[in-house]
Amino acid sequence: MYYSPRYIDEAHRLTIFHEEHILRSSRCTCFYCGYQFDPQREQDLVWWDEESPKGRTLTCPKCGIDCILGDASGYPITDKRFIRLATEMWFSGYSRISDGLEPDKIKQTCIEVS
Ligand SMILES: [Zn+2]
Repeated sequence: MYYSPRYIDEAHRLTIFHEEHILRSSRCTCFYCGYQFDPQREQDLVWWDEESPKGRTLTCPKCGIDCILGDASGYPITDKRFIRLATEMWFSGYSRISDGLEPDKIKQTCIEVS
């Protein structure tokens, strides 16, 4: 299967304001860290763009980046080749997937403000 840059670019647009398709998905992939999860079962989902009339944006339960696609989007979100091409294009080669790292919970650091 060949994925054109245009195809991958169009998929990128569905990583924001995508509440409608995320809620119909049973599988989601984070294109930054590679974490895959079931949005119906995952606890503590964090949504951005609460006020957007276009729909909210889901962030990754692991890394917190807003780069999630669900299987209801119609894109091959579990195809390793697609995932790699998309992460390279969207993050210019700077992602946990590009670095070959496993998904990991980002440490919450407490910044003291005096
Ligand atoms: Zn992630």
